[in-house]
Amino acid sequence: MKYYSLNGNAPHVDFAHAAVEGQAPDKGLYFPEYIPQIDPALIKNISDYSNAEIAFQVIRPYIGGMIPDERLMQIAKETVDFDIPLVQVNEKISSLELFYGPTLAFKDVGARFMSRCLSELVKKSDKEITVLVATSGDTGGAVANGFFDVPGINVLILYPSGKVSPVQEMQLTALGKNIKALEVKGNFDDCQSLVKQAFMDKDINQSVFLTSANSINIARWLPQQFYYCFAYKQWKDKEHPPVICVPSGNFGNLCAGVIAHCSGLPVDHFIAACNVNDSVARYFVSGIFNARETIATYSNAMDVGNPSNFPRLVEMMKQKNISISADTITDDETVKTIQKVYHQYNYLLDPHGAVAYAALEKYLEKNPGKKGIFLETAHPVKFPDVIESSLGIKVPVPESLGSLLQQQKQSILINNSFHELKAFLLNH
Ligand SMILES: *Cc1c(COP(=O)(O)O)cnc(C)c1O
Repeated sequence: MKYYSLNGNAPHVDFAHAAVEGQAPDKGLYFPEYIPQIDPALIKNISDYSNAEIAFQVIRPYIGGMIPDERLMQIAKETVDFDIPLVQVNEKISSLELFYGPTLAFKDVGARFMSRCLSELVKKSDKEITVLVATSGDTGGAVANGFFDVPGINVLILYPSGKVSPVQEMQLTALGKNIKALEVKGNFDDCQSLVKQAFMDKDINQSVFLTSANSINIARWLPQQFYYCFAYKQWKDKEHPPVICVPSGNFGNLCAGVIAHCSGLPVDHFIAACNVNDSVARYFVSGIFNARETIATYSNAMDVGNPSNFPRLVEMMKQKNISISADTITDDETVKTIQKVYHQYNYLLDPHGAVAYAALEKYLEKNPGKKGIFLETAHPVKFPDVIESSLGIKVPVPESLGSLLQQQKQSILINNSFHELKAFLLNH
């Protein structure tokens, strides 16, 4: 298996190269030369397979032998060693709960897989790698957790000051050791833009070996297919595959679902649920893609004005006729959805799940007879302010969070200035 750059101006590379480099030299996103097909027997008998076995089989063709099968199986096992239940909310809507990982959001799956692959791939060289990552909230914690104390790898996380929740902030600043956090006076797009500039800077690249842990990296993007397969495994009515609604920001998650579908996973229809940062939703209507300034919302992990994975979506829509639509949900609708679903169905949504629930419900109203799944991408405790102001309740803190909130934040405040980031990278 080789990967090419969607900008079309870089050599084709193997999995190891693509994962270690993150982005192609022409600044394009890597994309597999062909989309492998999942064994039809696996899809037919999916309930007979363990999650680890499904993950292994789905990812194996993408690795192209760069990691031995035995080790890959172990990585697959460790990546998905927590519950990913499909919970029925009402007659038509089920929630795929993706928040049982160590940092309580779906990004643990991609981050765990990627960190283990990278440490395996750099073992053979004596290169020190710096993982540079911008986060709107959940990526940072998942990446920090995945790479914590991994030899040969340093992690530098950029996050927008004052725009992440207390749990999110602690998850990315409290670890220490090989994990460093820069708190940027700006928004997520500023952080993402600083990271992009660092990747293009000659001086930095001469002295530091940088790689990205955002979903532009195939080692983080591709494993996100796993839980779409687990959703189908738990879906009872196999004759009528589900509509799947994905709360979307950078569009890595949705693109992972779409590539799984291109590989043969049955899905009736995809919905990209956006908050008011809806460049892609507007593209679906007008056919024109316009990036916009980010607007802060309650679903902060989706506050992305210029989604990185958009070219991958365009590529897959070129290769296959995909049934997909998008919708925009405002903060007001998000709050009303949290209230309605809590009071009517006794189900507690987080703001991201609420955006997806609302978009799915609207779609199902227009398409009677269909049923669907929304991805509940984070635990509500990561967004206590919205929940408390919407419902007047305190979100019970899960035991797994332990003493996190009592720990010491360790971050370095910088301006939204490439100069400051560069100085930091060259001096640390
Ligand atoms: C990152 C994130 C999203 C958006 O996922 P993308 O892959 O960036 O589209 C949605 N919900 C939560 C909780 C997230 O952390």
